[in-house]
Amino acid sequence: MRNPVPDYLTEVVDACASSRGGAPASYIPELAKVDPEQFGVAMATVDGAVYAVGDADTEFTMQSISKAFVYGLAVRERGIAGVDEVIDVEPSGDPFDELSLEEGSGRPSNPMINAGAITAHSLIGGGEISPSDRVERIIELLSDLAGRQLSVDERVWHSEMEASDRNLAIAHMLRSHGIISDPAEEIISAYARQCSVLVTARDLALMAATLANAGVQPVTGQRIFSGGEVRRLLSVMLTCGMYDSAGDWVSAVGIPAKSGVGGGIIGALPGQVGLATFSPRLDTHGNSVRGIETFERLSSDMGLHLMEVAPPAREVLHSTHAIGAGEDAVRVYELSGTIGFSGAERILQRLTDEPPSERIIAVDLTGVHTIRSVARRMLLEAIRRLRQDGHTVYLVDEAGVLPDRDPGDGEMLLPLPPDL
Ligand code: GLN
Repeated sequence: MRNPVPDYLTEVVDACASSRGGAPASYIPELAKVDPEQFGVAMATVDGAVYAVGDADTEFTMQSISKAFVYGLAVRERGIAGVDEVIDVEPSGDPFDELSLEEGSGRPSNPMINAGAITAHSLIGGGEISPSDRVERIIELLSDLAGRQLSVDERVWHSEMEASDRNLAIAHMLRSHGIISDPAEEIISAYARQCSVLVTARDLALMAATLANAGVQPVTGQRIFSGGEVRRLLSVMLTCGMYDSAGDWVSAVGIPAKSGVGGGIIGALPGQVGLATFSPRLDTHGNSVRGIETFERLSSDMGLHLMEVAPPAREVLHSTHAIGAGEDAVRVYELSGTIGFSGAERILQRLTDEPPSERIIAVDLTGVHTIRSVARRMLLEAIRRLRQDGHTVYLVDEAGVLPDRDPGDGEMLLPLPPDL
């Protein structure tokens, strides 16, 4: 069979290609020289499947997309509280190159605008590291995320340095507030190298898929961020990743995202996919026009909006039936899917509303994919109470989806004996 996914992506690219609004970034002269017709889309699943169409293998500079990952690295190195001391997480509602500092403290509003991103860059490697080692560390991170060695576009970097007055002003202000201590020229030069790292839409899709996959690169299997670090990173991307159009973006697309003036946009949908688009024409916010259109289509066609709640809870209690008769009758509860709070609550409600008349109960987890921590505690508590009511409870869980099986009443939870 020919996989329909690339055909679908090609259809989306064809449909959005007719849009020619916006213009490539011109404040960095080198960026204005790109072919504005370039257009690529890539998608990577959390299982590591990659679909890439159009100019998805053309390199361009990451620009502000790097901010998301460098913030993640700062959180990994310093912890959330350590980073919060110098960078807030409030959407600024301002353009990316506004100063947007908190009154009094001088903390940048968030890590996605330049002020916050320059601060996040300054945190990498602690106080001792040289600017070039810091950049190396960042390139190493970005390369791990892409699953291949990345490098800096020297021409774009030079060009960016020639147009760096605004970023220099931001760095001077940050220094005056004691938010950063590096000399302004030094940090802006290093930050511009971070922005000038070359990637393709395919690379970006894998980087985004690493976030969708709770921090594990889906092809190489390398753990790059912890689940908690990813949660923080995606939260900030959702609220601040598209600058002063963040509200529009969340309403229309509903996927944590980050754009860059090189023409790239990434989006990461937890547990599902990483998406990336590349098209250099930008709107007035600095976001790719075709990129936004593509994301709007993908989100609506594929039902990717975060607020479009999936209904797994209904499926959790797959079926229940009795085997045998009399004293030896067993009531079997077959559970399935991913069990979180609402799924576990459904099971508890069923056990409360329709208490089993059989003395022996088997909880069959064969069809269960994941049990979240809260659901595990709820199920074990249910088992403890069923035992208190005089039931014997067995567990069918050959795959071991239920860890720490101690219901807390001093008795082990046993697998179903073969003769039952
Ligand atoms: N390097 C660019 C800058 O600092 C990044 C801006 C962006 O991509 N929005 O101006």
